Amino acid sequence: MSDQNQPLIFEESKKERVAFSLPEIDVPEKTLNSLIDDEYIRKNDPEFPEVSELQLVRHYMALSKRNFGVDNGFYPLGSCTMKYNPKVNEVIARLDGFTKVHPYQDESTVQGALELLYRLQVNLEAITGMDAMTLQPAAGAHGEWTGLMIIRAFHEANHDTKRTKVIIPDTAHGTNPASASVAGFEAVTVKSDVNGLVDLEDLERVADDHTAALMLTNPNTLGLFETHIQDIARIVHAAGGKVYYDGANMNAIMGVTRPGDMGYDVVHLNLHKTFTGPHGGGGPGSGPVGVKKELAPFLPKPLIIKKEDGTYGFDYDRPDSIGRVKAFYGNFGINVRAYAYIRTMGAEGLSQVSKDAVLNANYLLKRLSGNFDTPFKQFCKHEFVLSGSRQKKLGVRTLDMAKRLLDFGYYPPTIYFPLIVDEAMMIEPTETESKETLDAFADRLIEISYEAEENPEIVQEAPHQTVISRLDETRAARHPILRYQKPEAK
Ligand SMILES: *Cc1c(COP(=O)(O)O)cnc(C)c1O
Repeated sequence: MSDQNQPLIFEESKKERVAFSLPEIDVPEKTLNSLIDDEYIRKNDPEFPEVSELQLVRHYMALSKRNFGVDNGFYPLGSCTMKYNPKVNEVIARLDGFTKVHPYQDESTVQGALELLYRLQVNLEAITGMDAMTLQPAAGAHGEWTGLMIIRAFHEANHDTKRTKVIIPDTAHGTNPASASVAGFEAVTVKSDVNGLVDLEDLERVADDHTAALMLTNPNTLGLFETHIQDIARIVHAAGGKVYYDGANMNAIMGVTRPGDMGYDVVHLNLHKTFTGPHGGGGPGSGPVGVKKELAPFLPKPLIIKKEDGTYGFDYDRPDSIGRVKAFYGNFGINVRAYAYIRTMGAEGLSQVSKDAVLNANYLLKRLSGNFDTPFKQFCKHEFVLSGSRQKKLGVRTLDMAKRLLDFGYYPPTIYFPLIVDEAMMIEPTETESKETLDAFADRLIEISYEAEENPEIVQEAPHQTVISRLDETRAARHPILRYQKPEAK
């Protein structure tokens, strides 16, 4: 990387060099100081680097080049749907009418913003097959918790208080059991069968009158469609539970089928995944929750409604609501981007997205299946899971291969998840990548599989080309060094 030798700004510091110019101070410093308690006044000057504006600009440019995002290169991080975020969304989200409104403004002065949110709700209801929707939750996990609190309120309203358990497959994303637990439930595991799908017999065994809900993403985290979903829903409903759709994998089925038609009662969506909100840096996200009619009274308040006179407003008159789950009305900017995306794609465009995402994943799976173990033989949906067990026998682990990909400018796949696959490598190419990109990535990963056979050290010691090479990841997570530290004087 060309910026590797860029000196750190702290080491370039020269006394009295400045990157700014401010007018002379025109109040006596003494007056200023007298307004501040003595204990808060610095006794010594801070040790800030003293550099010119140009040095400062170069410092931040160099840092920005060390970052990696989908705008830099291929990012096949399974389950995260790192697709391209169209720039038109950004233009629209930056319009003054969206950025300069205040949440405390009177309804009558923000009709456009409210209409957008209302229309987004209606569109998401149509896409998921649900009857009502809240846009408040700030991310997928927050949506899961919100959905479970709704289910809890429903059972409580029916005086059905012994329903304390939430059934979750052993392939589930870690947020599912975490949300169940935070919502006050006990998580119970249902096993997967040899085909990677929910084991119906095991489900029959665990579903009973203590079951509050089943949480299930479809396609599941192995990228496999739960073909028995209607039977699954029937078993859970017969036991008196509700069926919750973790919508993080909506990119596989959008415009093709709907959770609401499969028997699901509650859905969350990850607008920052399927609906192109940028999310490499961890947010902000948006995790709207949709429900069937029967659960609608329990949705968070306020809901955004269209009134009889045709204007838009907030509905606070919801006595059974679980209450507010987020300050104000959700992450508005991400909701604007999602609406812009839905409108630019149109209904046909959205279903084409899912078809292309599935095609890309199957193409890549086929290309890689000669060199890596494929634990499941059926077609995948938008993502697939390989196993690195063949390479493990040679002393090269999936972690090593993921690190080796960094040397070639790729963000690695999700690794060691789902937990039921040995040395798992979970790849989600998304629909926005070209065949050329998929081929180049497949060629590279195949090459790495040959390196594992012929020259394992080069993989085991990767990465070689990045600013920082192999880290002790446990120590980095437990004892992170978050501040610049002066090198010891030599
Ligand atoms: C991403 C993801 C989640 C959690 O979503 P966040 O927005 O990260 O909280 C839940 N389930 C699955 C399957 C996911 O991929």
